[in-house]
Amino acid sequence: VFQLSVPLNFLGTVYRELRQSLLDMETLFNLQKVNVAIKEKEDAKPLELTSGGEIRFENVAFGYRPDRPILRDLNLTIPAGKKVAIVGPSGCGKSTILRLLFRFYDPQAGRILIDNQDIRDIKLESLRKAIGVVPQDTPLFNNSIEHNIQYGNMEATKEEVQAAAKRARIHEIVEGFPDRYGTMVGERGMMISGGEKQRLAVARVILKDPPLLFFDEATSALDTHTEQSLLANINSILREKARTSVFIAHRLRTIYDSDLIIVLRDGKMVESGTHERLIDSGGVYSELWSAQETLMVEGENGGGRPGED
Ligand code: ATP
Repeated sequence: VFQLSVPLNFLGTVYRELRQSLLDMETLFNLQKVNVAIKEKEDAKPLELTSGGEIRFENVAFGYRPDRPILRDLNLTIPAGKKVAIVGPSGCGKSTILRLLFRFYDPQAGRILIDNQDIRDIKLESLRKAIGVVPQDTPLFNNSIEHNIQYGNMEATKEEVQAAAKRARIHEIVEGFPDRYGTMVGERGMMISGGEKQRLAVARVILKDPPLLFFDEATSALDTHTEQSLLANINSILREKARTSVFIAHRLRTIYDSDLIIVLRDGKMVESGTHERLIDSGGVYSELWSAQETLMVEGENGGGRPGED
């Protein structure tokens, strides 16, 4: 019996690893819609964060179909260690910027650099490891809450998982469930609310602790109060660790305190600067801000409150 148990344990490990990598593939292919045409160069090198994680788009042009350009001659710099927001009308290409950075697609013209390294010269695994994303719709596994957070770093201890959950404002809610961290989230997280899913996703990325972070409408399902307290926690983590971060957002109230705000329209950057500068210059951003503030005031005086769904 003793002799047999060794190979069986070994097989168990292999099985678990295999299952984990299948899960990874499933997430990548089904949920992130990876383009398998992207190939790694034979002499690709690991990413080296020599300047703290500066992201630069140089004359980038891209369309999912050649006859329908999405980004046109896009130039932008996301400074290392800063909090940057990308805003613009729906469909203008904000999430596309993130997909290009992940190299789910390559641009048709121009180049994308991280700390002066063209991402086409970087090993894909090392590129994707360096970037953490809280996407619009988080891929969750039909598994426990603990597993879903731990996915950010499979080596993390229970304590580390719970510390991340606390910072993501989800710990108390989880403690209130009968099975606590063992609670199953259901197929694609059906058993928990949209706001809880978003907080799980934030906990996962806090645990992953990557040098570059993207939040793509990451708090849109939360009520204003929870959103503000979660954003405050995220901000303190980003500042503490001097992480480069990018927030894609519709509601300007959630990003107006960014170090830099980039305004996109028709696939180009039309304005950039701090909130104060953009308001003073009276352009697209300032119009958007006024429109949203008017809605807020009307919402407060009247019935429905915009932004609280
Ligand atoms: P939103 O604010 O609504 O999330 P966005 O600015 O993030 O929008 P993107 O998701 O970048 O917009 O999409 C830009 C355009 O590209 C949209 O018109 C969209 O329909 C189109 N698009 C996105 N993904 C694909 C795809 N895989 N194939 C073809 N077209 C796509």
